[in-house]
Amino acid sequence: MTLLIQHALLVSMNDRDEVIEDGALVVEGPRLRYVGPAIQAPPGPFDRVIDGRRLIALPGFVNAHCHSPANLYRGLLPSRPLEIWRTYYRATLRAMADEDFYASALLGAMEMLKTGTTTVLDHFFGNPTLPFMGAGGAIRAMQDLGLRHVVALTLSDKRYEDTVPLGGVTDDAAAELQRMSQGEARDAQAWLEECEAFIAQHHAPTRLTTCCPGPSAVQRCTDELLTGAAALARRQQLPLHIHLAETKSQQVMGPRLYGTSLIQHLKAINLLGPDLSLAHSIWIEEPDIELIARSGATPVHNPASNLRLGSGLAPVPRLLAAGAHVALGTDGATSNDGQNMFDAVRLAALIHNPSLADYRAWVTPAQALRMATREGARAFGLEAGGLAPGRLADVVLLRRDTPAFTPLNNVLHQLAFCENGSSVDTVLVNGEVVVEGGRLTRMREQEVLGLAAASLERLRPEIQREMLAAQTVEPALAEMYFRVAGQAER
Ligand SMILES: [Zn+2]
Repeated sequence: MTLLIQHALLVSMNDRDEVIEDGALVVEGPRLRYVGPAIQAPPGPFDRVIDGRRLIALPGFVNAHCHSPANLYRGLLPSRPLEIWRTYYRATLRAMADEDFYASALLGAMEMLKTGTTTVLDHFFGNPTLPFMGAGGAIRAMQDLGLRHVVALTLSDKRYEDTVPLGGVTDDAAAELQRMSQGEARDAQAWLEECEAFIAQHHAPTRLTTCCPGPSAVQRCTDELLTGAAALARRQQLPLHIHLAETKSQQVMGPRLYGTSLIQHLKAINLLGPDLSLAHSIWIEEPDIELIARSGATPVHNPASNLRLGSGLAPVPRLLAAGAHVALGTDGATSNDGQNMFDAVRLAALIHNPSLADYRAWVTPAQALRMATREGARAFGLEAGGLAPGRLADVVLLRRDTPAFTPLNNVLHQLAFCENGSSVDTVLVNGEVVVEGGRLTRMREQEVLGLAAASLERLRPEIQREMLAAQTVEPALAEMYFRVAGQAER
């Protein structure tokens, strides 16, 4: 199919952040063929022409970190520090079946597409008793709605209780922690085989699916698993995704386990490289920042989640100043609770200002938008995230006759500070229109909402039981949290 979008305001997010006032895009199959002034657009014929006079064209957002099973549980959990929050989040997952992972991913994909996200990284952890923990259901959902996705299978081969600085634990809490880890901490070889089978079965870029290993976190894996996962990814030229230093309790495990920081350990075992993305990267020090910048690895900033769980502020301005590539994500809906990247862009461009006296280093709207587009695409090796000939045709068209863009003073500032996704009119993924007039084209939205509601209804009794069990662990984790919070200083 060929498509011409004529006379639109193009926000290219190319290397020069070029904006073209009266621009045109030509889409041919899954790729952009022409991007430039309308007056120089190639002649047709085209299968379809969109009049762009009232539209702004932007490359689709790349949501570089989330967990699709959480979409059913938005608003459910109280705000708690990560280690406590996690026991409640995990309690929601154990009873989920393939159809629930489908419904949950469908709900998130709908929200993302309708608010301008065209690619998502799903750091998938589901129900360990299912094949690939249920990731197949999530993949099917994202394929059904036409959202490009990178599914990083979460791997961990250590018992959780051995990877956090716990103090004294009662017998009840110890038993519950052990039960929670069941099925989760397989040995390295078993996980690597599972991940390889997962990739063999589901990796299909032409169907929008990239599969890759996603070790849970540095301290949660043995070196055998970390290096095995990297070898697997690199053998098949796939990206590699991991959580890094989200909380202070994680940071203190670096010296305890390795005698170095977590990032220095990643460097020591040769994981640090341009194919590695590091969700959060909050509790890192100056030498770590230098290491990350030099390696070309991509920290993924998740501002809403970090605020909700009180995890801390990632040193984004310092990372950017050091020349690091930083991407942006929403994180899962139990710590955010939305999957709207405009929200992430706005927060990224706002929350660092108060802690930085040197206003010249504040995150600019252009930087926040780059993080949300081309940096995410780069991190996952996708030719997306920018409007340029040859790139994948993942494009968002926003109406400009809305309050967010009226009057139009500065399109980059207004995209970052004013827009909330409600101006999104049309979304193309892989050259196909998957949102039109603000509505999904592939499935009835009522059906998506109905499936999600039905899943939760079915799961509710089991989740309530699991939540009560998780409460037995809270005192031990709270003791650890307060001890660590009072201990070291940043
Ligand atoms: Zn995460």
